[in-house]
Amino acid sequence: MFLGIDDTDSPDGMCTTYLGAMLAENLRRAGYTVGEMRLIRLNPNVVWKTRGNAAVCLEVTGGTPEAVFDAACGLVEEFAEFDCENTNPGVVVVKERPDPAFYYQALQRFCTIGETVRRLDKIGALYCGYKCGRGLIGALAAVSSVLPDATYELLAYRSPERFGTPREIVEESFFASAAATFPHTWDTVDPAAGTVVCVPHGKDPVLYGIRGESPEWVEASAALLLSEPPTFSQIWKTNQGTDAHLLDYDGEPLEGLSYRIDGVVIAEPLTRCGGHVQFLFMPDTGGPAIIVFAFEPTKEFRHMVRRLLSGDRITLCGSWRKNALHLEKFRANTLVTTEVRESPKCPVCGGRMTSAGYGKGYKCRNCSGRIRDVAVQMREITEGWYEVPPDARRHLAKPIARMQDD
Ligand code: ATP
Repeated sequence: MFLGIDDTDSPDGMCTTYLGAMLAENLRRAGYTVGEMRLIRLNPNVVWKTRGNAAVCLEVTGGTPEAVFDAACGLVEEFAEFDCENTNPGVVVVKERPDPAFYYQALQRFCTIGETVRRLDKIGALYCGYKCGRGLIGALAAVSSVLPDATYELLAYRSPERFGTPREIVEESFFASAAATFPHTWDTVDPAAGTVVCVPHGKDPVLYGIRGESPEWVEASAALLLSEPPTFSQIWKTNQGTDAHLLDYDGEPLEGLSYRIDGVVIAEPLTRCGGHVQFLFMPDTGGPAIIVFAFEPTKEFRHMVRRLLSGDRITLCGSWRKNALHLEKFRANTLVTTEVRESPKCPVCGGRMTSAGYGKGYKCRNCSGRIRDVAVQMREITEGWYEVPPDARRHLAKPIARMQDD
């Protein structure tokens, strides 16, 4: 049977994976066999998520669905953060995996509580939705999930008396572990920023999460870490890092959906107040031109975006929010030119110079100084993928380290 749980945490504590891991341990002690454990990320643009819109699914053998359901509800009632207005837990138990269509809807689009309950009734699931019951959406999606591509995350959990205190880790060991296991693990550290990114800062029970391509690699990486002792850890099979949220673009962007889009840059990037970079893009599908944003938290990724020129053919991945595409990564497919002539500074007054016309060199806007020509420079961007730094990456976004023939 398959057990799904979602929406048990709040910004003040708990984590649905922790509850799922505790439940697995309780079930094993009671004589059940717990097989695959899945950490399923759903549409990253739902507004009521606490952190990363995760739900969990446990594959359980032994006993009756009713007994497993009761055990799950008991633990949810004991540990979920019911006081938080936004915490609306859901528990679902099914004997067989339901049609994956519901998983894809929750992953790539939106679902209502009403349609979820109708579906649960139709398939004869055992279910309980607490408070407004919204957690049933994630719980049903998790048990309906299919993983044509999958990665793994080893989550190490803190002992309860340490919840809410600063996490004790030896940072150097995280850098060493990442260096020893990359590209088979990723997002442990951000080497460019010199920061550890796999250790959360909130009151939740997670000590760290190591992401990688197989259970063996995440275990090997975790074995190299020095930190406060975790109480226990769990390896989850997950859709993280697979781009499963992206839809092929059809020319009509919809709010809250994420797309992969081919097309051409039609107006060069500009840096706006607050540091975000934006440019205009024409999709190959036709339809309206699209405004693309790379936000300030994406840091040095914006330097690569700024290097795009009108006419460059690129592939974009990102979410459509408030009439703009919020960029997760892009691929430079064909660059309009490999060389650029930078507008020179005036040798007389230091002001900006502009072209004086074809073959006539440059003239200064301030003092009318002139020069004949400027050196041609190679563009500081080549064909290939460019992505946001690990700190700004969405859980579902596939890291370039995993992009092979894409
Ligand atoms: P947790 O660790 O508790 O799972 P979270 O950051 O993953 O925290 P939730 O607290 O689970 O976020 O909140 C997300 C809520 O949105 C859940 O109730 C879930 O059922 C619901 N949800 C998930 N995907 C969709 C969707 N596509 N459409 C509508 N609701 C969704």
